[in-house]
Parts: sequence; C-alpha cells; structure tokens
Amino acid sequence: MKLLVVEDEIKTGDYLRQGLTEAGFTVDLVRNGLDGQHLAVTGTYDLIVLDVMLPDIDGWRIVQSLREKNTNTPVLFLTARDSVDDRVKGLELGADDYLVKPFAFSEFLARVRTLLRRGEPSPITDKLTIADLTLDLPSRRARRSGTLINLTNKEFSLLELLLRRQGEVLPRSLIASQIWDMNFDSDTNVIDVAIRRLRSKIDDSFEPKLIHTVRGMGYKLENTDDNSDF
Ligand code: CA
Repeated sequence: MKLLVVEDEIKTGDYLRQGLTEAGFTVDLVRNGLDGQHLAVTGTYDLIVLDVMLPDIDGWRIVQSLREKNTNTPVLFLTARDSVDDRVKGLELGADDYLVKPFAFSEFLARVRTLLRRGEPSPITDKLTIADLTLDLPSRRARRSGTLINLTNKEFSLLELLLRRQGEVLPRSLIASQIWDMNFDSDTNVIDVAIRRLRSKIDDSFEPKLIHTVRGMGYKLENTDDNSDF
C-alpha cells in the first residue's frame, strides 16, 4: 500500500512518515502544495493525506485538481482549524475524511485503515485465514496446520470476529456486544474466560501465537511473524 503525505510542518511530516512506514506502508512525503499536487495527480496512491494549510497552494486546491481528473483515491484531510465550515468545505470538494490537529497517531492510523478498507471490493468469502489457521464459514470448521479444531458455537463466532478484524484491538465491550449480544459493563470476565479457552485450542500447541492481549484495551488477532501486511 502506497501513501502520499503532503505536510509542510517538518516534525509532523516526519512523524507521520515514520509511523506509517512502521505500520507497513510505503510513504512519499512532500512538504509543499505544488509538489503535492503534481504527485497526487500523476502518481498512483492508495491514499493521500493532505494538510490543508500549505505555504503555496492549499490542500483544498489539491483535492480539487485530483477530483477534476476523476481520480477516486481516498483523501484524508489534516486541518488545524476546528471550524465546521472548513470541514464541510473539505468534504464538499471531495475529501473522504478529516482529522483535526493535534491528533493521536493511533487515531490517524485507524482513519487511514478505514479509508483503505472502504476502497476495497468486499468479495463474498467463505474462508478466513491467518498464518496456518483457516476458518471455513459454511461448515463452521476451524483448522490449524491442517488439524481440525473443535470449537463451540460461541468460540467459532469469537474467532470469526477476531479474524475479520485481524490486526485491530477489539475492546472487551465490543466483543461482548458482538458475540454475546449483551453489554458487559462491569463483568468482562466471561470474555477473558472465552479467550483463554480459545487460546488453549488454537494457540497453545502451535506457533506463532495469534491471539494477543493488549493490556488495558482488549484483544487482537495478529500474525506477528508477518510484518509485510498490517
Ligand atoms: Ca501546514
């Protein structure tokens, strides 16, 4: 996945480039509007991150040029202005989302991933995989390294949720609402117990471990052996 970042503030640009590169993206960073406009219009990117306030031409002008060429590349605006009018203007000109500075990198990355996902066709799939783990949805069977793994209905649903959103940290409350159709405001022990059982079945006898606990946040499914794909 290749991203273009147009940002004139040196520190912000470097920070975004570094974070995105670590997240597995290829990044072109330019620090002025004209170069940004040139690359946006002539290059091939999966997503463009545009700072609105640039020293020469602004981000709005760039997104306009891009849309005039009928290019649908998703655009995420970064704006220091917290005014509704500016956001509306950006969205009307063809930006797909905006983020008001200052922002946390985790928030930025989440927006980037959401926009990238939106652009993908969603094929009807009957198999979900990560590493050597495969979930066959029609038969509701799970295999790891070819070995059939016996899962209860809830365990299968839980694993399916983790697989569909692999790489994302899923809070216990989200898991509770999606799998148990309930809100576990105070007692999320049931989630921890279910995760422990699932781990004993899909992770204990295998490498690499796929279910990860993110302290204070929740759980995520990730193949940490594979950094090429976020
Ligand atoms: Ca700026």
